[in-house]
Amino acid sequence: MKIICIGRNYAEHAKEMKSDVPTEPVFFMKPETALLKGSDFYYPDFTKDLHHEVEIVLKISKNGKHIAEEFASGYYNEIGVGIDFTARDLQMKCKEKGLPWEKAKAFDHSAPVSEFVAKDKFNLANLAFNLKINGGERQKGNTKDLLFSFEQVIAYVSKFVTLKTGDLIFTGTPEGVSAVQKGDVLEAAIEGKKLLTLSIK
Ligand code: MG
Repeated sequence: MKIICIGRNYAEHAKEMKSDVPTEPVFFMKPETALLKGSDFYYPDFTKDLHHEVEIVLKISKNGKHIAEEFASGYYNEIGVGIDFTARDLQMKCKEKGLPWEKAKAFDHSAPVSEFVAKDKFNLANLAFNLKINGGERQKGNTKDLLFSFEQVIAYVSKFVTLKTGDLIFTGTPEGVSAVQKGDVLEAAIEGKKLLTLSIK
């Protein structure tokens, strides 16, 4: 399986990163070894500025290529919440030099994800999600603010990359990204229901 991540899919986050608001989706990938499920996260020694990015995650349920937007909703049945961990110091250096981001984004366990839940319980066009750290709210988003809908993202990505059953799509983070520290406890929720708890060791 592979993990596809959408960058700058919320305008306020693009602004806080001093990036342009994109006119078409921006995506990058993390390998399967980035996945982290149900265990603690160990702070890597190659960064001093590890940022959280809370994101709604889609789980692809059917293989597809060149998926039309109007059929895209048939390609995922479940959603979850995840953290797109980012070594922001390394990412900034890569960006300055015009180099790829993999060191900053695709490292082991950089993609913790929650359990997945059936999407039909939710109004996906108006879905609230948030991240608390040590009990305090740090990020809060709603899919009504997405620049590119889940369906637009699936259609766009599948023009370039075949989507396969079990692939995950991180759909972008709202504003409020910041650094985590050893000892932090992260809790991510969809519509107030906590789905992911993660300790930073
Ligand atoms: Mg992200």
